[in-house]
Amino acid sequence: MKYDVVVVGSGPAGTVTARFAAESGAKVLIVERRAEVGVPVLCGEGISQKIDDWGMLEGKRWIANKMEGARIYSPDGTMVRLSADMAGNETGYVVYRDIFDKELARMAVKAGTEIMMKTEVTGLLKENEIITGVKANQFNEEIDIEADIVVGADGVESKIGQWAGIDTLLKPHDLETCAQYTLTNIECDKEYCDFYLGEEIAPGGYAWVFPKGKDVANVGIGILASLSESGMALKLLDKFIGSHPELKKGEPVRLLAGAVPVAQPVETVKDHLLLVGDAARHADPITGGGLTTSLEGGKIAGETIGKAVNEQKFDNEILGSYETGWKEAFGKKLRRNYLVKEILLGFEDKTLNLLADSLKDYKFEEFSTFSIVKALVLKHPTLLMKLKPLMKISVEK
Ligand SMILES: Cc1cc2nc3c(=O)[nH]c(=O)nc-3n(C[C@H](O)[C@H](O)[C@H](O)COP(=O)(O)OP(=O)(O)OC[C@H]3O[C@@H](n4cnc5c(N)ncnc54)[C@H](O)[C@@H]3O)c2cc1C
Repeated sequence: MKYDVVVVGSGPAGTVTARFAAESGAKVLIVERRAEVGVPVLCGEGISQKIDDWGMLEGKRWIANKMEGARIYSPDGTMVRLSADMAGNETGYVVYRDIFDKELARMAVKAGTEIMMKTEVTGLLKENEIITGVKANQFNEEIDIEADIVVGADGVESKIGQWAGIDTLLKPHDLETCAQYTLTNIECDKEYCDFYLGEEIAPGGYAWVFPKGKDVANVGIGILASLSESGMALKLLDKFIGSHPELKKGEPVRLLAGAVPVAQPVETVKDHLLLVGDAARHADPITGGGLTTSLEGGKIAGETIGKAVNEQKFDNEILGSYETGWKEAFGKKLRRNYLVKEILLGFEDKTLNLLADSLKDYKFEEFSTFSIVKALVLKHPTLLMKLKPLMKISVEK
């Protein structure tokens, strides 16, 4: 088997990369170990409405719910309301990830991509230390797949980078462990995604309620692995649901456990190799949301690959324009949000409560650093000292 490009993983990062590479004329194969694209769903399914502008998806079948914004609850229950465009990459739509992923796969196939399911990549093929493809296993049969470029789109548990000599190891401090129910027969406000903060609720993370309709929602929790023990995410999730009568009366129709990288991006390019999406550690270090960067990064990767295939050059130099591209598109934001995450982790509950109290009536549509500082000074001037490192980041970056 010989392809220009073999993409390992059929998640959003892999299918978008494949699509744009195939549209540029490359012969592309996606290899996926699961039996079905997009299943099982391991996601809160929240995504920004800005995907509408990217034209990567057609129709509305993948949308479960469109939202007005987000509500953030501090540990004492004070609520801060944000509009969808101010609330970050997870607020806009709640999607059906199984349909969403299949739709992205369909568009990759429409562009000429082939997909091989139930096939696990087990290593890289190399000749004289040069990557020449992947080794895979399908129904206990070993297969060698030759390719000029290998794309690691193999998610949070990525091995491709490691096999190519890239340090992709995630420290517990840079990993959120998550549990989530899809609860049915609950009461929720379908206009808002809700986020709940607090040391007792979710140490180093948050709990969320992402509505898929007025009586069904993804209710989940993510906690920092360094602050938790095995099985703790599910226990805290059950406790969280138990303390919310409007959720407690529901029953689950889905339960999932997964992990999200909240790390700094790794090196993403080697000769003949690229890493995209969670494999590149492109998820937002504050929220753990990785869909938008998977789509944005995948497009840049696919276009870079198209150029490399057309010029028949596969070295670090030509593929490096992918790394330059994603750094320009969202690298600065990921770096800044990693620093913000580190600072937020140092905040005690009472600081979060004061912060929420200062901002609960703030009109975010009139956002400016000056008006935020004014809101804080008026209500809780002592907060300013604690927030100084955050302000320094927002001024510097
Ligand atoms: C509980 C939870 C909630 C989340 N909620 C949100 C949210 O609301 N919004 C948001 O933006 N993000 C969210 N995320 C993060 C989001 O799901 C990921 O960032 C996104 O799926 C990354 O896409 P990807 O294509 O890089 O990887 P994935 O979607 O993980 O796809 C990787 C694919 O590679 C395949 N694969 C892995 N290894 C191999 C191999 N060796 N051979 C063949 N195939 C292989 C896997 O089977 C998988 O299909 C959440 C994550 C979790 C765990």
